[in-house]
Amino acid sequence: MSCCLIKRFLCCAVLFFDAAIAPAQNTEAKAPPVIDVHVHAMDGNFPGVAPMCPNTSKFTASDPKEKEEPFGWVKEPCTPALYPSAPGEYMKDVLAEMERLNVTAVVFGDPKSAQKWKDSAPTRVIPGTSFQSGMAPGQRVALEELRKDFTNGGFKVMGEIGLQYEGISPSDPSVDAYFALAEELDIPVAVHMGTGGSGRANVTMPKFRGSMGNPLLFEELLARHPKLRVQVMHAGYPMIEEMLTLLQANSHVYVDVAGLIWSYPIKEVNRYIERLVDGGFEDRVMFGTDQLLWPKLMAYSISIIQNADYLTPQQKRDILYNNAARFLRIDNTQGK
Ligand SMILES: [Zn+2]
Repeated sequence: MSCCLIKRFLCCAVLFFDAAIAPAQNTEAKAPPVIDVHVHAMDGNFPGVAPMCPNTSKFTASDPKEKEEPFGWVKEPCTPALYPSAPGEYMKDVLAEMERLNVTAVVFGDPKSAQKWKDSAPTRVIPGTSFQSGMAPGQRVALEELRKDFTNGGFKVMGEIGLQYEGISPSDPSVDAYFALAEELDIPVAVHMGTGGSGRANVTMPKFRGSMGNPLLFEELLARHPKLRVQVMHAGYPMIEEMLTLLQANSHVYVDVAGLIWSYPIKEVNRYIERLVDGGFEDRVMFGTDQLLWPKLMAYSISIIQNADYLTPQQKRDILYNNAARFLRIDNTQGK
């Protein structure tokens, strides 16, 4: 969701806040390891970005007769407000947070941007790129170009794939060759499904379709590619019944809770995660942030899992680390 989110915050974020950032957490030298499966390779300057209020309590209606703001989050005081980095400091700040919190992250972007993050923190960054990365909406990276990224370039995940912003289903034949490539190379794919537009997709994203975030749209694709491993980004929020149906139907499907974990009302976030776990899929829920502009978002989002009274300590560890380690087939000697 990166480009749209950024645009939104660059042009509009005027959120009210009345408190400083929450006290740091996980400050011990050996914080238990965490994998964030959904980070974006940003490193620009974002002048004018205001602090962000996570888990805003509601979305507001707008009137097409008036000037409509590009996001629908209600303006309200919050604790903590999350602050953007100083110009030019973003990547450094996020990598420092990852070190402090013992986080390894899948970082998505065009090959050059993602590689820059990998070069800056080789042991903490797992690079990802997709057939849309760095391209204008609707344009595609050449198939053979992408093949090189995954065979010689060291890229490990094909994502973020944001077809929903183009109003396209993941099963659309026009992108099938890319998913076939991922299956052939045994590379997991990470596809944006569900959230988007923050209550105002109609204002800012004319091609976005909520219906194209239906997790069941994967079914035909998965039937064509039975070995494909899928990360449903944003856990298909808010279509919990369809998400559970897909998880029941296909054991190669995992979800991440990125984005939704901080951009919807907290009671709803916890209810959604609890449904996934109560449905029996505690082994397939992965932690993620959709980390974009605010370095403290990672600590904030981890705290939501850590403070979830409906999760056992083992379920928290599985969501924060073990499930992603299994999905990504990375060394799991740190996990328990
Ligand atoms: Zn997304």
